[in-house]
Amino acid sequence: MKTKERLAIPPVHMKEQDPRERIKNQKEVPLGYTSEQARREASRCLQCRKAPCVSGCPVGIDIPGFIEKIEKGDFQAAILKLKEKNVLPAICGRVCPQEEQCQLPCTVGKSRKSVEESVAIGKLERFAADWERQNGNVILPDIPPKTGKRAAVIGSGPAGLTVAGDLIKLGHGVTIFEALHKPGGVLTYGIPEFRLPKEIVNSEVEYLKKLGVEIKYNYIIGKIKSLVELLSEYDSVFIGTGAGLPSFLRIEGENLLGVYSANEYLTRANLMRAFDQDISDTPILRGNRVAIVGGGNVAMDAARTALRLGAEKSIIAYRRSEKEMPARNEEIEHAKEEGVEFHLLVNPIRILGNDDGWVTGMEMIRMQLGEPDSSGRRRPVPIKDSEFQFNVDVVIVAIGNSPNPLIPRETPGLKVNNWGGIIVDETTGATSIPGVYAGGDIVLGAATVILAMGEGRRAAQAMHEYMSKN
Ligand SMILES: Cc1cc2nc3c(=O)[nH]c(=O)nc-3n(C[C@H](O)[C@H](O)[C@H](O)COP(=O)(O)OP(=O)(O)OC[C@H]3O[C@@H](n4cnc5c(N)ncnc54)[C@H](O)[C@@H]3O)c2cc1C
Repeated sequence: MKTKERLAIPPVHMKEQDPRERIKNQKEVPLGYTSEQARREASRCLQCRKAPCVSGCPVGIDIPGFIEKIEKGDFQAAILKLKEKNVLPAICGRVCPQEEQCQLPCTVGKSRKSVEESVAIGKLERFAADWERQNGNVILPDIPPKTGKRAAVIGSGPAGLTVAGDLIKLGHGVTIFEALHKPGGVLTYGIPEFRLPKEIVNSEVEYLKKLGVEIKYNYIIGKIKSLVELLSEYDSVFIGTGAGLPSFLRIEGENLLGVYSANEYLTRANLMRAFDQDISDTPILRGNRVAIVGGGNVAMDAARTALRLGAEKSIIAYRRSEKEMPARNEEIEHAKEEGVEFHLLVNPIRILGNDDGWVTGMEMIRMQLGEPDSSGRRRPVPIKDSEFQFNVDVVIVAIGNSPNPLIPRETPGLKVNNWGGIIVDETTGATSIPGVYAGGDIVLGAATVILAMGEGRRAAQAMHEYMSKN
């Protein structure tokens, strides 16, 4: 096909569950491509020689390579190509912000003057991974003979899983130590089922186990065993413990009953399955009128979860305008379609409660945007005498997370910066302790799945070199 013909093919949209139906269930919202749809979407790719999309991918997937295989209908070859660089393609295809990464520089999107019309790289990645899982055709890569070296990985989020996958494929022994009873980190306890079914996370973890990765659950490093002890038993250690420490508003009323951090709320709903009363007795306040403070993916997830748990109203309260919202556009659109109310340029100043200590409302103030702050976004400034009240019975605080402090606090000599992130060498992920590497949210602060994986990939390479020499 000629370039002109390819450019004339309209984007193939993925079908989605009807918003009125989907707020009554936990099933995934986008329904996936059929083989024909995937091949048609793949035929929009121009196979650019310079492949600007690859430079936008933090793990360097050969994007034109896997898309070409899909276009030809060789889905097995497509997934093998993807897995050369990405051990979690079904996950990345669903939750990566492709519109800011691989799809942003896509030549097709540029020539159609809209990133929305770029080749749907993420959706094609998801298609190939789902095809493999649904066909049960998982082909394991050849693994070199055992090197005799053993690495310990702390945390089974995307950073830790990537390190484990890369090191096992290089012939090293790998044991993951995970604090929770399930693997996946935020993929399991944070991101809801309707965005990322847990069956998918589990099957990607199963793949790693088939390669020989061992996982020890309910194992908190820093309590059960120290990092120093771990280092005496293993040849190298990776810290991928994430940013699970929620930030709070620090306003009056925040200790009332009915105030959650988004982390706690989503952990109860997702990891502890509070949405499924048939199998779980995890308590959660369902609320009639739920307010979520924040404007990121975490806030959108909490707002949409509240609707699915039966709230009549789910309100996003964000102190800037929609343009500054850090959430992905797709998540904002999905939340709006489902009936989440957006209240922009507002900020809570006090949470109100009754004599029994339960939340009854929030006192808010209207904001306007001033000069840009250190993040480059315009600073929200309160408007004098603009206070008003929201009548709500549950408040969820989703204003950010910081690195988990346990290991840095318990490990002498492990250097951290002023916000608690572990300091690493940017090219290797090496920490201040020889043989110990770190990556993902514990280094970057709350970031993204693919950035955590990119950091994992870089650290795994450095750990391999370190273990080969020592
Ligand atoms: C609700 C929510 C929605 C999100 N949505 C998106 C999205 O759509 N797209 C996107 O790209 N990113 C999203 N993110 C961000 C993304 O999930 C994170 O950037 C990513 O998971 C970070 O990976 P990680 O491996 O560094 O840490 P985590 O995923 O946090 O995993 C860390 C793991 O370490 C374990 N651990 C912690 N301390 C210890 C210890 N002492 N011993 C043993 N184990 C320990 C934890 O239990 C956890 O399993 C979202 C985040 C949240 C909270």
